[in-house]
Amino acid sequence: MTTTIQSKIKSWITSGVKTGMESNGDTLKDTPSGSISIAFAEELSKCGDDTVLECFNCGTCSAICPLVGESFPRKMIRYVQIGAKDRILDNAEELWRCLHCGLCTRTCPREADPGEVILALKRFVLSGWRRS
Ligand code: SF4
Ligand code: SF4
Repeated sequence: MTTTIQSKIKSWITSGVKTGMESNGDTLKDTPSGSISIAFAEELSKCGDDTVLECFNCGTCSAICPLVGESFPRKMIRYVQIGAKDRILDNAEELWRCLHCGLCTRTCPREADPGEVILALKRFVLSGWRRS
């Protein structure tokens, strides 16, 4: 698992993909810029998703999502990719707005399975609540 993720990261870095939202002109003002972090993606794999690093931030999922206008679920995926765990926890209530309609997953060109990422993030948040 780790080797696979690391090879994906290496591929990204060598292909020049750095911070997708900024390069795509996304208007999210609270999106921290920074380098890709594999630690959170690896942690999320324990919550049931190992596809998050497939995302190349095209925005299709946010365009099709009924919660359109909120950069969801792309924003959450980006937070995972850059290791912004605090942003996930600060905005955790947004995860529970997901309708689980599956539109994002069906239209993702990278098979990044954004719907499953949201489910995994819910498990991640709940596991923290159980520990606290
Ligand atoms: S549609 Fe897929 S590749 Fe595009 S931003 Fe959403 S999760 Fe990422
Ligand atoms: S499953 Fe959730 S995130 Fe995906 S399109 Fe439906 S409401 Fe949006």
